[in-house]
Amino acid sequence: MLYRLNHAGFEAYLVGGGVRDLLLGGQPKDFDIATSAKPEEIKALFRNCRLIGRRFRLAHVRFGREVIEVATFRAHHDADESGADGVIENGLILRDNVYGTRDEDAMRRDFSVNCLYYDVRDFSVIDFAEGMADLEARLIRMIGEPTLRYREDPVRILRAARFAAKLDFTLEQETAAAVELCAGALHDIPPARLFEEVLKLFMTGHASASLTVLRQLDVFKYLFPATDRLIGEHERAAALVEGALRSTDERIAQDKTVTPAFLVAAFLWPVLRVYLGGHEVRDMSTAMAIDHAGSMVIADQIQRVALPKRFTLVAKEIWGLQPALEERRGRRPLKLLNHPRLRAAYDFLLLRAQAGEPVQEHADWWTKFVQSDDSDRQGAVAAAPKHRQRKRRRKKPSAGERANTGTGP
Ligand code: ATP
Ligand code: MG
Repeated sequence: MLYRLNHAGFEAYLVGGGVRDLLLGGQPKDFDIATSAKPEEIKALFRNCRLIGRRFRLAHVRFGREVIEVATFRAHHDADESGADGVIENGLILRDNVYGTRDEDAMRRDFSVNCLYYDVRDFSVIDFAEGMADLEARLIRMIGEPTLRYREDPVRILRAARFAAKLDFTLEQETAAAVELCAGALHDIPPARLFEEVLKLFMTGHASASLTVLRQLDVFKYLFPATDRLIGEHERAAALVEGALRSTDERIAQDKTVTPAFLVAAFLWPVLRVYLGGHEVRDMSTAMAIDHAGSMVIADQIQRVALPKRFTLVAKEIWGLQPALEERRGRRPLKLLNHPRLRAAYDFLLLRAQAGEPVQEHADWWTKFVQSDDSDRQGAVAAAPKHRQRKRRRKKPSAGERANTGTGP
């Protein structure tokens, strides 16, 4: 693509994470190209090209499963220059967006290590902001004045945390110090944009490190406020969340599938428990109470981060299956074997056991059960009590319990 753009008479550079991660010896997640060609000119050069975006148009060029993002050089106009305050869209202050030169394009980028331009004509890297030195020193350094740059786009705070976590870099001192001054502005970022950042923070193999950095910067509260509070107060809540993040990272490292639903279930499980009055799962409720409380907890959370329904519904299923996994009445375990969420719910039970919840015995029972063959399973359920003394607990929550949890009808 770089060669073709060059041959057509345009400037074109590989930029962003593609250059940064290659220089670090890593595998880039995706490639971004910056060019002097205008969107229509890009489209004319590549067959599998789609133009996206309204205010600022980008080209997406598809190669098999890869999408390369091609952006025309853009100038960064600051308020003084344009005399106008800019339009707020998607939480970003967009001033009159105009195309710019390569050098202007470089100066609007966020961090020095993201501001390296690879030129395929002579295989050189143009370093506009001493990014090479920062790669060497393993520093995330904001280009320009950090408070100004965070105010322009507060999501840069989350990006700083993400790159520090992903690359195991340190935030340069001023870049870190300005976070505290500016973080409040994260309140005004649309929940949909925060969800995109949450995926990049927690679903790309460095979730555990992301949480550590976000908590050090005290900005995790802008994403999952209730979870943030509980992690600080309860060791078990912290252990559960940490365990979920570590297992997500391990699965990604092993190329196994991961779903945000499992993370949603883990992040909000401590919140759900508080909502239900802190009882053990078996005691606290029927599946209906979990369902109801789950809806309330999710409704609160999506004010901040727009978690799509397809994930929150699965999280609720995972929660809803926990009492069933702990009761194991009669032949129900056999039926559960065919439940599409059994695997996730069982993994979640293991996670709870590891976090110190008193469910180890149930976790062990299920581990044996899922691993054994059919006839062993028949034996296992025959040995289980037909009706344990749970009748009392299966009824709807009493008025007292409802008062306790604050979830009266
Ligand atoms: P990765 O793709 O590995 O997450 P990246 O650095 O490529 O990291 P992208 O979000 O793909 O990040 O963005 C590509 C480049 O665009 C960045 O390297 C940066 O130079 C610039 N950029 C992206 N978002 C912003 C922003 N909010 N403010 C300033 N520059 C940005
Ligand atoms: Mg990228």
